[in-house]
Amino acid sequence: MRPIQMVDTKTQYHKIKPAVDQAVMEVMESTAFINGKAVQDFAADLSSYLGVKHTIPCANGTDALQIAMMALGLQPGDEIITPSFTYIATTEVIALLRLTPVFVEVDPKTFCIDPAAIEKAITPRTKAIVPVHLYGQAAPMEQIMEIAEKHGLYVIEDNAQAIGCEYIFENGTRQKTGTIGHIGATSFYPSKNLGAFGDGGAIFTNDDELAARMKMIANHGQSRQYYHDVVGCNSRLDSIQAAILGIKLKHLDEYASARQQAAAYYDQAFAGHPAITTPALAAYSSHVYHQYTILMEGVDREGLKKYLAEKGIPAMIYYPVPGHRQKMFEQFNVASLDLPVTDWLTQRVISLPIHTELDEEQLAYITSHILAYINQ
Ligand SMILES: *Cc1c(COP(=O)(O)O)cnc(C)c1O
Repeated sequence: MRPIQMVDTKTQYHKIKPAVDQAVMEVMESTAFINGKAVQDFAADLSSYLGVKHTIPCANGTDALQIAMMALGLQPGDEIITPSFTYIATTEVIALLRLTPVFVEVDPKTFCIDPAAIEKAITPRTKAIVPVHLYGQAAPMEQIMEIAEKHGLYVIEDNAQAIGCEYIFENGTRQKTGTIGHIGATSFYPSKNLGAFGDGGAIFTNDDELAARMKMIANHGQSRQYYHDVVGCNSRLDSIQAAILGIKLKHLDEYASARQQAAAYYDQAFAGHPAITTPALAAYSSHVYHQYTILMEGVDREGLKKYLAEKGIPAMIYYPVPGHRQKMFEQFNVASLDLPVTDWLTQRVISLPIHTELDEEQLAYITSHILAYINQ
């Protein structure tokens, strides 16, 4: 049996090695390392895959979120509603820009932001909502967009974990996550569903004006060479990463189905177990399983992790400390916030190995050891 990893990027690479290596060699020969043809081609391919008008490549997913927020013309102290139960990058950029993160609850079944909690958190200073499509499943975008429209708010989707995920509207239309809000942001960090061989990110929008502003912000606020209209930053996807991502994009749907197959195996193995809640599938979304995260009831989670580690099975807690309990955000007096669902989840979640290369032998080994520990 191959060793079990949370993510197996090596086996995945070896399956497409000739195409990836050739694409990288072509960039090296071209020496167009920055903003070369590979970057433009990848951005165009990704736009057409997602069905979005503009894709603006940038250096990483955190920058993508930051540039999106910088483009909205917000003032210090403006409030951004976001889940507490997310990766720190989502909320850190809010504080970095001197905006105020307003942490709200998530749905205990889907782990995504709760629309009722959003409505309750709106004040005259609220300017934007940042839903996170956590673990690869969409937040309830239709409701979120309705709330945003009603209150005149921007929506920035954190799509770092859900590229390729499809939102299903009540009327049956389907749209890729990251293209529904005013702006979408994603990451090409190597372990993400569309992972580069280094850092990378992108921003999506159907709004021409926002696209122009974000392009300018990502490039030192430059409108034409050496004319800098706004304070921006330097955030670029390099051509080698773009060339690799261009190859991998062609496999993204096949990668999603490999993840879905692994998830189905887990679902079946754990079905009906009183101590395990498997991921709930929302009727309005597909699931691209960036993570396969279960909830454990009455199980010594640390004990299980240790037992699995001894058997060569990694497992991770995403995320053990929610935003409102991070020292970083003490300045916003959030420690006293009452977010019982978030706290409850942080104590019960555990993420199992999931990637495109898991085989049945590995899945049988993982599930049998988890069940052996829980049933002992
Ligand atoms: C990975 C991730 C990011 C940040 O992406 P980087 O490329 O690491 O900067 C942001 N939000 C979420 C939810 C993520 O999982």
